[in-house]
Order: sequence, then structure tokens, then C-alpha cells
Amino acid sequence: MGSLEEAVVVITGAGRGIGRAIAEELGRGGAKVVVNYSQSKAPAEDLVAQLQQNGSPESVAIQADVSDAEQAARLIEDTVKHFGRIDALVNNAGINVDRTMKKMSVDDWNKVIQTDLNSCFYTVKAAQSYFIQQGSGTIINISSFVGQAGNFGQANYAAAKAGIIGFTKVAALELARNNITVNAICPGFIETDMFSKVPDNVKESILKRIPLGRTGSPQEVARAVRYLIVDGGYITGQTLNINGGIYM
Ligand code: NAD
Repeated sequence: MGSLEEAVVVITGAGRGIGRAIAEELGRGGAKVVVNYSQSKAPAEDLVAQLQQNGSPESVAIQADVSDAEQAARLIEDTVKHFGRIDALVNNAGINVDRTMKKMSVDDWNKVIQTDLNSCFYTVKAAQSYFIQQGSGTIINISSFVGQAGNFGQANYAAAKAGIIGFTKVAALELARNNITVNAICPGFIETDMFSKVPDNVKESILKRIPLGRTGSPQEVARAVRYLIVDGGYITGQTLNINGGIYM
């Protein structure tokens, strides 16, 4: 893309954590940011107000539960209605419901697959025709190192995040002829609300497993998203690991 200036970027689940950091990073660069949220309207609106004062006066918040196919499609339609185009899509929304398979219900399984994996298909399916018409587009799917390495008690999450990597490669193959790039980012342990739920003793043992000896920040993931959007024109179908070396 070369520049963020005027680029219309949709970020799912952008009200907090990694999604929020991505919105701030892209907004500072002049992108028009669509801050998607599912339930928490106030943090999304606060973020939009902040973006509007910091380089992104046209940013908006759009409510949609992206685990629902119709709402995910509406998010993309509303974006195009509002801005007339869409340049980049960052599939960031995600949840985890962690328990061993013995305790994991079918509902726990389905909820995570629906939110973390199926949502990516829903938004990409809705956005692809606009990207194709424009002859350009960037899609970034936030996976996880857990989808590559596995992690105790996360069968549903690991399956969803591994699924994202496979989906990313197929989407990259199918859309390359239209100058659309599709990549996955696999963060390791990043300091957000999702990570704060991990018990302290587990956090200690996690830190011992990370070669760089620390967790990552949401901003470190956000800068990689910016790089892929601005300078990643010849990068597609790839998985970018931002994990302190926990999985190589
Ligand atoms: P978070 O829980 O702080 O934020 C997730 C966001 O997604 C929230 O704003 C939430 O409201 C939103 N969301 C959830 N379900 C949604 C839905 N159905 N529709 C729309 N929005 C929805 O988590 P985070 O740590 O910022 O995680 C962001 C992404 O990064 C997730 O996909 C997560 O799996 C991935 N990730 C996180 C880590 C980590 O250590 N934090 C590591 C690897 C990958």
C-alpha cells in the first residue's frame, strides 16, 4: 500500500488489548479506522474519540458480533457504505475458554471455533468482492503460537488458531491474482486482559519458557501489522511469529 494516509482499515474486536493497539498505531499514521466491537460500546467510543484527536479524524466505531455470519458481513457492508472502500482488514477478535478436553463441553468448543476461526471466513468472504473490484487489499489474521505449538487446556483455541493459518494460505492463493495479500500473525504471550486471566504461578512458568525472558506488548504486534500493511506488498500466505522465541 505504501502509506496509511487515507487507507480504510477494519479491525475486529478493537476496543481493547492488541486490537486497540493496532487501531492506535494505524490511526496515528493517518488511516481511517473502523473500530469494531461486540458488546463494550463505551471503550470503543473512547478509542474513536482518541483516534479522532490523534491523526485519524474520520475513524468510526461499528458494532457487530463477528462470530455471527450476518453481523460480520454487515460490518464490511457498513464500512463500504460509510467510506466508499475498504483497504485492509485485520481479523483480531478472539476469545478463549480454557479447560482440559475432559471438562470441555461441546458448547465451549463451538464458541471458540465460531468466534476465533469462523469469524475470519465471514469477514473475508464479505470483503473479498470489494478488494477484487479495487484490485488491491490487505488481510491480516491474528492467530497465535498456540495454533503452532499447542498448549495444555486449549484444544478449542489451538484448533481455531491452527485453522486460521491454513485458511490464510488458501485465501492468499485464491486472492493473489487480484493483488490482495493475506497473512497471519502469531503472537506469543502478550500483556493484555486475555493474558491477565492466567494464574500467577502459570505466568511464572510461562516466563521461564520464553527465550527473551519477557512477555510482549500489544504495541509490538501493532507495529508488525503496520509493517505488513505499509511495506508488505510482496508478502503473502505467511505466518509472522512475534513470540520472544517461545516457538521457533
Ligand atoms: P482481549 O480479550 O483483550 O481482546 C479481544 C477483543 O475481541 C475484545 O475487545 C473482545 O470484546 C473482542 N471480541 C471477542 N469476541 C468478539 C466478537 N464475537 N465480535 C467482535 N469482537 C469480539 O484479547 P487480546 O489479547 O487483545 O487478543 C486479541 C487477539 O490476539 C485474539 O485473537 C487473541 O486470540 C490473539 N492472541 C492474543 C495473545 C495474548 O497473549 N494476549 C497471544 C496470541 C494471540
